Amino acid sequence: MKIAVLPGDGIGPEVTAQAVKVLRALARDGLSLEMEEAPIGGAGYDAAGDPLPEATLRLAQAADAVLLGAVGGPKYDTLARPLRPEQGLLRIRKELNLFANLRPARLYPELAEASTLRPEVVSGLDLMIVRELTGDLYFGEPRGIHLNADGEREAYNTMRYAESEIRRVAHIGFQIAMKRGKKLCSVEKANVLETSELWREVVIEVAREYPDVALSHMYVDNAAMQLVRNPKQFDVILTGNIFGDILSDEASMLTGSIGMLGSASLDATSKGMYEPIHGSAPDIAGQDKANPLATILSAAMMLRYTFSHDEAANRIEASVSKVLAKGMRTGDIATPGCTLLGCAAMGDAVVAAL
Ligand code: NAD
Repeated sequence: MKIAVLPGDGIGPEVTAQAVKVLRALARDGLSLEMEEAPIGGAGYDAAGDPLPEATLRLAQAADAVLLGAVGGPKYDTLARPLRPEQGLLRIRKELNLFANLRPARLYPELAEASTLRPEVVSGLDLMIVRELTGDLYFGEPRGIHLNADGEREAYNTMRYAESEIRRVAHIGFQIAMKRGKKLCSVEKANVLETSELWREVVIEVAREYPDVALSHMYVDNAAMQLVRNPKQFDVILTGNIFGDILSDEASMLTGSIGMLGSASLDATSKGMYEPIHGSAPDIAGQDKANPLATILSAAMMLRYTFSHDEAANRIEASVSKVLAKGMRTGDIATPGCTLLGCAAMGDAVVAAL
């Protein structure tokens, strides 16, 4: 299993180092892993004048999976747009053709108080949003701003999906549902949008290949409401790029803690890039305060979705549960009476729990 490790900027290197520590511990137990590091984002710019250096891209292309920390920082905010750290991230997603974005929202019962919702609504929440990442309104042509016939500025974007784009992400959604609770809810707006009408038709066709998965459909406005009313009704939510963008942020915040959530972006062969959903947190960078669990849980997702190594993934997730149950916390998820740990000590605690 070849893994490209791209720590990035800010807290990126600190949290990635903990995930690497956990993977190394699994390697000592017999998992065959090869890891190599390369700079991306601001670190890429510092090393090679490019947020996605050629050598980093080559390493990522040659690897089976990429583990990424986070990119960005105030130091780079005044650079020309193509040189900014975030461009490195967008480019690597595009170069690797990562069209399916997986965002879990899982709330460990021990952290139920961290949510803004009542504990009984969210405690034990475990859902997965599968969002299409390379099509829809964000990429559709034509797009632009122009002067219309009345001399007024007018702006437009195009919501557009080809059947094949829907089909390939739908397959990923169903395959993930098979590995989880075998329930998939497809979210669109088929009562108003032709794009959604086609989406629903194609999802129903793909569903015939997965007879064990219970398929349901929901309009996006209702889904936004149901996510805060009764989020535990969902297992896998499959949706397009713009709806997924909004719903996945909503769902992640149900858990109340940005430092706990990982993500995956997959291509058609299950090659993937795995990263925490948080950014580079310049306010706490270099202080050993960051919560590494989102990155450690991203590594678990990597073992499950790229390497089909469910047993190792389960071991990591169970270790995280164990550490939380013992009352160990980083600052962002601290509760009264907890044992406060730094980033590196939290990584050590997870390794010990393995
Ligand atoms: P952020 O996620 O970096 O930080 C938001 C807040 O959450 C901060 O107070 C931070 O201290 C805290 N936080 C984030 N991760 C944490 C962790 N693991 N443990 C403890 N606390 C944590 O978002 P931001 O402040 O809006 O952005 C900072 C930089 O990160 C910007 O340059 C932005 O462009 C970049 N960014 C990168 C990514 C990415 O690499 N995928 C995503 C979002 C933002």
